[in-house]
Amino acid sequence: MPLDIGVLALQGDFQEHRAVLESLGAAVIEVRLPHQLEGLDGLVIPGGESTTIVKLVHRWGFPDALRRFKEEGGAVWGTCAGMIVMASELLEPDPKPLSLMDIKVSRNWFGRQVDSFETDILVKGVSGGPVHAVFIRAPSVREHGEGVETIATLRDGTPVAVRSGKLMATAFHPELTPDTRIHELFLRLSAGNLPSV
Ligand code: GLN
Repeated sequence: MPLDIGVLALQGDFQEHRAVLESLGAAVIEVRLPHQLEGLDGLVIPGGESTTIVKLVHRWGFPDALRRFKEEGGAVWGTCAGMIVMASELLEPDPKPLSLMDIKVSRNWFGRQVDSFETDILVKGVSGGPVHAVFIRAPSVREHGEGVETIATLRDGTPVAVRSGKLMATAFHPELTPDTRIHELFLRLSAGNLPSV
């Protein structure tokens, strides 16, 4: 049986995630309403514009359903804006994040659109050498709770990927490169195959 993975399709680059996950054999649905979370093994919250995503998440009544999904053992992975949406706290006043993961995040940590960059980083739980990571007006994790592990940092130590059980957040965009290893890691988490911390 393939894994059932949802991609939150309210705004952002959900189609790119869908294509990668399907290429890896997952059964993917674009989630636009809360009831579509039922029965999924995992959910990706894509990159995009976090203020817009949070606004639409509230408009369509997602917050409680998302928390329930997580509490009932669904895996959740946020990329870039998705990381911001998952945070428990932001350094900035907007948006109000959904508190799915115990991380304190700062938006646009690396500057504006022109300060977007690409670099190679090692990711814990991903074998075969560094991952080429694309950062587009990316956030960074400033603090995190005890149960959260940093699984990737930049060379200067800035945390850019974190994991806690079946929850994962990356400041960069693995869906924009041909390397599928981070998506494979998320599918392993969704299947309940957790790397030891
Ligand atoms: N800077 C955007 C935000 O704050 C995120 C950018 C992205 O997802 N690539 O929502």
